[in-house]
Amino acid sequence: MKTLTPPTNLSQSSVAPRSTSEIIHSYQKNIIPNYGRVPIALVRGKGSYVWNAEGKRYLDFSSGIAVNTLGHCHPAITKAITRQAKRLVHTSNIFYTEGQEVVAERIIREIGAGKSFFCNSGAEANEALFKFARKFGHDSGRFEILTTLQSFHGRTMAGISATGQDKVKKGFEPLVEGFRHVPYNDLEAMRQAIGKKTVAILIEGIQGEGGIIPAHASYLLGLRKLCDEQGLLLLMDAVQCGMYRTGQFQSYQRILGEQTKSFLPDGISMAKGIAGGLPMGAIWIRQPYQDLLGVGSHGSTFGGNPLVCAAAMAVFKTIEKENLAENASQQGTWLKTALQELKSPFVEEIRGLGLMIGIELKKEIPLLQAPDKPPAALFVRKLHEKGLITVVAGTHTIRFLPPLNITQNQSAEAIKKMKQALQELH
Ligand SMILES: *Cc1c(COP(=O)(O)O)cnc(C)c1O
Repeated sequence: MKTLTPPTNLSQSSVAPRSTSEIIHSYQKNIIPNYGRVPIALVRGKGSYVWNAEGKRYLDFSSGIAVNTLGHCHPAITKAITRQAKRLVHTSNIFYTEGQEVVAERIIREIGAGKSFFCNSGAEANEALFKFARKFGHDSGRFEILTTLQSFHGRTMAGISATGQDKVKKGFEPLVEGFRHVPYNDLEAMRQAIGKKTVAILIEGIQGEGGIIPAHASYLLGLRKLCDEQGLLLLMDAVQCGMYRTGQFQSYQRILGEQTKSFLPDGISMAKGIAGGLPMGAIWIRQPYQDLLGVGSHGSTFGGNPLVCAAAMAVFKTIEKENLAENASQQGTWLKTALQELKSPFVEEIRGLGLMIGIELKKEIPLLQAPDKPPAALFVRKLHEKGLITVVAGTHTIRFLPPLNITQNQSAEAIKKMKQALQELH
């Protein structure tokens, strides 16, 4: 496990090997600079590890931002997509193919009676929910969707309009009409904000980009009651916190436990981890609204093609076979406890559920000050040097989002690196 050389059984890359600096140089010349990338070029992955162009190994506690549910190049996914690639990759949604209906059956089994639509990303899944809400409210002249501050709902025009963070909107005005934001976990603020034009409420079960902030059980139950009283749709963005990351398929199931029986959202958006690394988004809409988006009302050329559906089914089956929901729950608890036991004076708070963990740093850490980079970004760079990949959530929080099949040894390895990095802040 200590070796830094990548496994030899991996097939060659389809492009001629380049060094990190060659890759970065070519990006700077050819790629639109919309991402603040870290200077690491990853070329191979296996399980919970990835290797850069020079063969340095990293323990990946980001999973491609909660996407690589089973880690990198899991044999079940590789087998499923190889087999499907030889059979049928794409036909468009003019035809019926095999796959969507199977994934949908699976989603419905986990959530409740309803139907699904497939697209290719989280932003698109939210767009489908927005259109569902607009359709639902159309005849009564209602179109406004209330979302929360610090939320994140994607980078399309409606996505940034729905997102409760100014930084994603700046420079792109005018925004899409009909979104307003209120503080998260504040039922009274939501009640106050409802107006004549309001048709829906959209929240994340756990705010991801906003800093790993789980909804309170009383908030979820209160929102359901509020929506029932006022004839509003309750929509949930489960793009990041879904797909068993919390130990349950949906975060609200984890948050509510036994009380889940008396709670069901009207629509849920999913993406990120659902197909283990292939681009897939989905929505689920409950009965009796599941046929509102009728023939011709919405669509996606690629959405739910046989290749991504084969990957999604491989992910669902492997989670069940290898008991990974339980593993996510157990490793999550172990990691949170271990982080707490580090008792670092530089840590403000540790939050999250299952394998969605946020570590908030203290506000003023002398060694984490730079004019152009927030403390969380500087700390993430430090962890990268130690061989641990994590991502930021906001300016002061870093996220642990390991694959759901992370082992006890790998969790311990992450804690060891974390401990070293925190000690170096003294
Ligand atoms: C990542 C994310 C999105 C956007 O997903 P994309 O696939 O990047 O479009 C939307 N909502 C939440 C909660 C997310 O974490």
